[in-house]
Amino acid sequence: MMPLRPLAVVTPRGEEELLRSLAVEGAVPLGGGSDLIPGLSWELASGDALVSLAGVPALRRTDALADGSVCLGAAVTLAEVARHPLILGAYPALADAARAVGSWELRAQGTIGGNVCLATRCRFRNQPPLWRDALQTCYQSGGDVCHAAPASRTCVAILSGDTVPALAALGAQLEIWGHAARRLPIEDFYSGDGAHHISLAKGELLAAIHLPADPPTAAFRKWRARESIDFPEANAAVSAVWREGAWRAPRVFVSAVGPAPVRVVAAEALLDGADWSEDLLRAAGELARKAVHPYDNGQLNVAGRQIAVRGLVARALGDLQNARRERGL
Ligand SMILES: Cc1cc2nc3c(=O)[nH]c(=O)nc-3n(C[C@H](O)[C@H](O)[C@H](O)COP(=O)(O)OP(=O)(O)OC[C@H]3O[C@@H](n4cnc5c(N)ncnc54)[C@H](O)[C@@H]3O)c2cc1C
Ligand code: SF4
Repeated sequence: MMPLRPLAVVTPRGEEELLRSLAVEGAVPLGGGSDLIPGLSWELASGDALVSLAGVPALRRTDALADGSVCLGAAVTLAEVARHPLILGAYPALADAARAVGSWELRAQGTIGGNVCLATRCRFRNQPPLWRDALQTCYQSGGDVCHAAPASRTCVAILSGDTVPALAALGAQLEIWGHAARRLPIEDFYSGDGAHHISLAKGELLAAIHLPADPPTAAFRKWRARESIDFPEANAAVSAVWREGAWRAPRVFVSAVGPAPVRVVAAEALLDGADWSEDLLRAAGELARKAVHPYDNGQLNVAGRQIAVRGLVARALGDLQNARRERGL
């Protein structure tokens, strides 16, 4: 870790003060800082004033709402998500995804909002400044080249937040605060350009995540270089509703293979209402493999990451079948 230059940290206590603080030039939202602080130290992230979200009670809540949905504040830590009874009871795939992040120290520090807004990663960029100086400046830093995908006109750095596919499979909605307060499905939050990968304007922040009432059954799977602590090389989450003797309305998401999660609609069409034999699950995995096109900017090789997607999706679908059998359905 390189020394960190002096930075101002402010801790607003309410929504208005928070939005005022974020509107200041150079202000950046600070969740747990588990990625932002190393990023600032390596000059990967910019910002002069860190606006801590920890002091705003609305961002720290996990509430069951009257309509049966659950509202998860953006500043709730991943450790809290992984052990909260409401999450374990109705959204266990999200608890699994939160538990798959890094190490317990990172989960104790890192927030769900920081995970959803996590900066994209690339092995040509997540390096010390001296290492990066040896390369031509790429799109992510305002240059006009991509070392990972020379034919690409945009940055293809990797969306690495593990909770993203689980939230997408569950049908989560994001609540954004700022001058254009809004709610949107999580899959619409990502632009597909790794240099500006989330749809947040200056002064806006992710305030909360809304999890649906009557959630589908869901499962999450991750592939990484080291089981003990590592970013995903690929991850996947699936969900479906068991109704009238068949799985309906399946949702299949693969992530960590590019700057945005990939929804595998071909697999969803294959699975909807069908007999989920082993062969069918393998075929759905194969459709997912064909739907993703990772670039050579992760730690592991491209072919391996693409093949892993097939297994991740087939196994996650198998997890749904196991969950159904356990419930005697
Ligand atoms: C060694 C190591 C291993 C890791 N392994 C994993 C892993 O396996 N899987 C994984 O998913 N992550 C991993 N991480 C990344 C990180 O620890 C987690 O993603 C964590 O959840 C980030 O949350 P945070 O609150 O610490 O975010 P911060 O570091 O505080 O912020 C991350 C980014 O999000 C922005 N931000 C934070 N909160 C908000 C908000 N509410 N609204 C708008 N913007 C916001 C910040 O400005 C910053 O740009 C790893 C990090 C390290 C250092
Ligand atoms: S994907 Fe390309 S543009 Fe983006 S950080 Fe990597 S090398 Fe730079």
